[in-house]
Amino acid sequence: LRILVLGGGGREHALVWKLHQSSLVDHIFVSPGNGGTELSPKVTNVNIPNPTFHNLSEWAITNDINLVIPGPEQPLVDGVESYFRKVGIPVFGPSALAARMEGSKAFSKAFMTRHAVPTAAFRVFTSSEVDEAIDYVRTCGHKVVLKASGLASGKGVLIPETTEDAIAGLKEIMVSHAFGSAGDEVVIEEVLVGPEISVLAFSDGYTIVPLPAAQDHKRIGEGDTGPNTGGMGAYTPAPVATPAIMDQIMRETLKPTIDGMRREGYPFVGLLFTGFMLTDSGPKVLEYNVRFGDPETEALMLLLSEDTDLAAVILACVERRLDSVAITTRQGFAVSVVLASSGYPGSFEKGKIITVGEVPFDVVVFHAGTTKAKDLVQTSGGRVIAVSAYAPSLQEALDRAYEGVGQVKFDGKVYRRDIAHRGLKAAAS
Ligand code: ATP
Repeated sequence: LRILVLGGGGREHALVWKLHQSSLVDHIFVSPGNGGTELSPKVTNVNIPNPTFHNLSEWAITNDINLVIPGPEQPLVDGVESYFRKVGIPVFGPSALAARMEGSKAFSKAFMTRHAVPTAAFRVFTSSEVDEAIDYVRTCGHKVVLKASGLASGKGVLIPETTEDAIAGLKEIMVSHAFGSAGDEVVIEEVLVGPEISVLAFSDGYTIVPLPAAQDHKRIGEGDTGPNTGGMGAYTPAPVATPAIMDQIMRETLKPTIDGMRREGYPFVGLLFTGFMLTDSGPKVLEYNVRFGDPETEALMLLLSEDTDLAAVILACVERRLDSVAITTRQGFAVSVVLASSGYPGSFEKGKIITVGEVPFDVVVFHAGTTKAKDLVQTSGGRVIAVSAYAPSLQEALDRAYEGVGQVKFDGKVYRRDIAHRGLKAAAS
């Protein structure tokens, strides 16, 4: 296989790390990659000038690429899959029609209603219906969550405390266009309460195979305080997701979702990431993402067993025969701890030199916002590194990861010391 991975974050580094262990893989190209992705002579970062879909597919043809793996959602929502399909190169990722499950929350909520997938009660309003939306939050009788329907880089969700705040929020989205065209439609949802989990699942459009559930840490500060980030760390499996809950999720959500999408004419091929709130009345879907999550992927890749060949799994998905491969995970736990630049998610400085010392066994240092010039690796983004670790127990995995964190040095390094605090509490009780 000659694989082209699109993206340059910690998620993509983790995918490349797992893929490059496969005997099926001859070479991996990463566009654009980062300071850590070229982890062996089998991996090359490529800088395709003006990387439009047309130029990417031309480059892929010239370089004999036979599998494309897009990391982020934007190219999928914008239809990258059909560009490559037209020239005969399979893509591990959904078509633009199927990517609406992430690209439009109004679409995914209507889908869930049609297929009786458990989710928060909701109404959708377009930007010409501001008055109706305001009336609704005044009269609905419960606290609400406001969501810009389109892609807003994880920032398009407001959870107002009062009705007055909710009305102000609606005006921000619908009148001031705080999230641009992503707010052309607004989903107003009932507030759900409970622990949150992420379930990442492979699908070929017919079969769906979930990985163990993970928990992310969105806030910058310890104890889940401060502003939201892209994610400051993750761990898996999350003990709250008991086997009974995972069965229920499979039965009530994952299976009906994959079957419903296929039956409506846009089968889902790729990695479906479903965010759940585990409420008193069962797991309810918060959102669908149509790609791997970051930083969940950095932990999950270490949890996959050595004989689970990621390239073989992905190939089986694009060839519609996922039921012919085994996906197994190691007993134990994997964690990822994100190291960010001081100031993130606000403004931060770049260009700090990064050094990495010896890390313990079963610890991998995944790069995110880094660049390499000659042999010097520097910071180039908010989330810089994800240090991931596996161990038989959660506490050991954390000990290893934080020992690894100590080996990574750059000016302004910030990270949370309480990753997996919920998992540790569950283990202690
Ligand atoms: P992400 O960055 O996770 O992709 P997103 O912008 O796509 O975010 P959601 O996942 O729908 O949006 O919501 C973001 C967060 O807001 C959720 O992780 C959850 O904590 C909270 N949230 C969303 N919907 C609800 C709800 N109905 N009740 C309570 N909290 C909610």
